[in-house]
Amino acid sequence: MRVQIHGPSLPERAHYVDKLGLKMKIEKNSVVHFHYSVAEPGQAQLESSYDRDAMAILIGHGNIIPGLEDAMMGREAGEKFSITVTPDQAYGERQDGLNQRVPRKHFKNTKIAPGMQVVLPTSMGPRPMTVLKVGISTVDVDLNHPMAGKTLDFSTEILSVREATAEELEHGHVHGDGGVQH
Ligand code: ZN
Repeated sequence: MRVQIHGPSLPERAHYVDKLGLKMKIEKNSVVHFHYSVAEPGQAQLESSYDRDAMAILIGHGNIIPGLEDAMMGREAGEKFSITVTPDQAYGERQDGLNQRVPRKHFKNTKIAPGMQVVLPTSMGPRPMTVLKVGISTVDVDLNHPMAGKTLDFSTEILSVREATAEELEHGHVHGDGGVQH
């Protein structure tokens, strides 16, 4: 199972336009709602936003992997595209020494088993990790991102593009649908 924090669903696929009625193109400080699916080349899908809520990101603030952000630049709502991203432009290479033993209580009553991917809150924010070994009071996890070291094929659909609010820019993330609720 995958422990994940969800925002509310988008009420509709709003398309935003600028004052002249032209669709906005994605640039630094744009707020972008999008759907994606991701797989290793020639492999089964690893993950998709189509079975949950659209993603909302603030462009130019490290909210998503660099390869996908670069590929979004200059695009507008309604565009669909596919790209292949190498690890250096995605989740980086796998690193040794990222195993960690954490108290079992962090997993509450979730049933966990070796090989499962989980997301736990950390000092650096929610972080995906892989369960290696489950003990009575501790769990060994691998903190490498599950997609580290992988070349990834992304299929992406831009749903909407708008300007960020001053508050969103200050916080470095999106508020409202698909974003941070606070
Ligand atoms: Zn905020």
